[in-house]
Amino acid sequence: ELGTDYESAIKKDQQYLWHNITPYNEAAPPMIAATGSGSWVTDTNGQRYMDGMSGLWCVNVGYGRKELAEAAYEQLLQLPYFPLTQSHMPAIALAEKLNSWLGDDYVIFFSNSGSEANEAAFKIARQYQQQIGQHYRHKFISRYRGYHGSSMGALAATGQAQRKYKYEPLSGGFLHVAPPDSYRRPAGQTIEEFNLQCAQAIEDMIIWEGVETIAAVIMEPVITGGGIIIPHQVYMDRVQEICRTHGVLLIMDEVICGFGRSGQKFGHHNFGVKPDIVTMAKGLTSGYLPLSATAVRKDIYEAFKDKTDDYGHFRHVNTFGGNPAACALALRNLEVIEQENLIERARLLGQRLNTAMMEIVDHPLIGDIRSFGLVTGVELVEDKTSKKPASLDIVKSIIAGCKGKGLIIGKNGDTVAGYNNVLTFAPPLSSTDEDLEFLIATFKHVMSEH
Ligand code: PMP
Repeated sequence: ELGTDYESAIKKDQQYLWHNITPYNEAAPPMIAATGSGSWVTDTNGQRYMDGMSGLWCVNVGYGRKELAEAAYEQLLQLPYFPLTQSHMPAIALAEKLNSWLGDDYVIFFSNSGSEANEAAFKIARQYQQQIGQHYRHKFISRYRGYHGSSMGALAATGQAQRKYKYEPLSGGFLHVAPPDSYRRPAGQTIEEFNLQCAQAIEDMIIWEGVETIAAVIMEPVITGGGIIIPHQVYMDRVQEICRTHGVLLIMDEVICGFGRSGQKFGHHNFGVKPDIVTMAKGLTSGYLPLSATAVRKDIYEAFKDKTDDYGHFRHVNTFGGNPAACALALRNLEVIEQENLIERARLLGQRLNTAMMEIVDHPLIGDIRSFGLVTGVELVEDKTSKKPASLDIVKSIIAGCKGKGLIIGKNGDTVAGYNNVLTFAPPLSSTDEDLEFLIATFKHVMSEH
């Protein structure tokens, strides 16, 4: 039994628990969360924190939603598990709902995490290309700084060297191009020119590698974990055009951008592109239960549908994927987002957050402020002219300062390239006006001390 006081809990934590990434650090010990309500979590000491990152970009509808817990509970009593080698009602209902949210004709393959949703997407893309006679199309192109997951294929697609080099060789056939990081574009180039040049790098790679060897391009609509890199419309238009011209599938990783975070149902809706495959996780259940999905355009699915021989099957069993309770909860989560107009709310709060941040844009440490939906990234620099990234010590000190005042914020970027310098704000879409005011006031206060 964990004691409720921090001292005994942290002892057992250190003894038994292997955390994601962070080794135990005396100077910045982990908080041990006990309860959550709205945008706030309370630790075992009774200390409250506003979660300015919605966990890891998950808890879009906020903590402590009874209706979500009840949806899962009722489903657990009725039918806790059944494999999707056959079927059940919650998966059917959720797949129908996702199809309507996507606004186009997709079929849905369920799994349990964002990484798994991307792995399924890679396998579907390769097999699809084979089934239409494109037997050499096995390679994928993604962007440096993009993050697509922790498993061997998803990590291979990830463009952040620090996450990869200890674990190589990863899955083969993954290539990377530079992201459209407009803040750091060459002097003299317009944002449009730079974005078109970045898109062109994808076409150049397709051509140099051999058009007949490329299966798909995978990207987030906006690079999130890699430091809030927002493409210009011309980039997305051109990427879609390049993919179509060369028979390359376009996979949109909506694991973070989906479910209202971007100010639309899905991030790609902001750009009017029509991906061939869409992967989703996190906000699908607002993080309450593990569930992810790979949505595949109907015309791609058609290449698999009537194939009853072994060659035609999509050989990818997933025991837990589409768990009935997780599906029932996800469906309720989407209903809450609709009923409470949380997507509009995300846009409104996002605009306010961006306006408030722009008021301190002259702070010597702030190089750039980038916002979309309810996400703001604040890129810290040592010097506004050279744009040299701020030191990790400063970044950490600001994060610790916020935590000391009861606010959790994020740090994103890419360690190896030296750009681990983007502070990130992505509070729940359900945040109250007071929550947002607290976040803004706290951050401004901490910045005034740096
Ligand atoms: N894609 C993106 C864009 C992500 O941010 C993440 C997780 N941070 C993943 C995929 C992987 O999701 P998971 O951690 O659920 O495997």
